[in-house]
Amino acid sequence: MFSNESEAFPPYALQGPLGGSLSKDALFGGPAFTPDIVMILRQRYTYGQFENCTKEHTQRIVDHIFEEMNAIGDISFTRTTNFIMEVNPDLDVASAERIARTELGVLMKIASDLDWAKDDPTGTRYKYKMLGPSDNRTCDAHLILEQWQGEGKSKPELIAMIDELRRRYFPKMEPRSPFFLHPNERHRPVRHIRSGEYGDWG
Ligand SMILES: [Zn+2]
Repeated sequence: MFSNESEAFPPYALQGPLGGSLSKDALFGGPAFTPDIVMILRQRYTYGQFENCTKEHTQRIVDHIFEEMNAIGDISFTRTTNFIMEVNPDLDVASAERIARTELGVLMKIASDLDWAKDDPTGTRYKYKMLGPSDNRTCDAHLILEQWQGEGKSKPELIAMIDELRRRYFPKMEPRSPFFLHPNERHRPVRHIRSGEYGDWG
């Protein structure tokens, strides 16, 4: 159902059941990386030295992610993970995936927030929610968020819930982007289109 998300769904009009059916790339890819957004991302995206990477490794990885964004308007978990391992062959797959998941997640969340603000500046026109797998790796904070958010909330309400859970479960964590609960997050923010807004998609 989500195998060709960008073609099968209008931008961010994701509907469908929660669960593990999203591919890793579908979790992070998206049509939000337009040139105007990439320009703002360059200013807002801040990062430290990545886990078990040198400064030089970190810079090459960041440059590569932005090159892809500029070239094809997208990011890819798989390609980024592979590139990280190419740049730093000492890393194991799990570490490379953790870096990719965290950094692409931060970028995707900033980009989505900017993209959605274009036609919903207050975040109250549509409903927003965090979508991701519920399995034995899902943390308590995300399980609670799943209950709290229900079928979706306004953007300010959703962000307030995430802030509350981050303070409760990860009190030392700085939010690096809107919708940020913790690093290595498998959940992405999605926007619900109101019934009828996209015809049969409602
Ligand atoms: Zn979690």
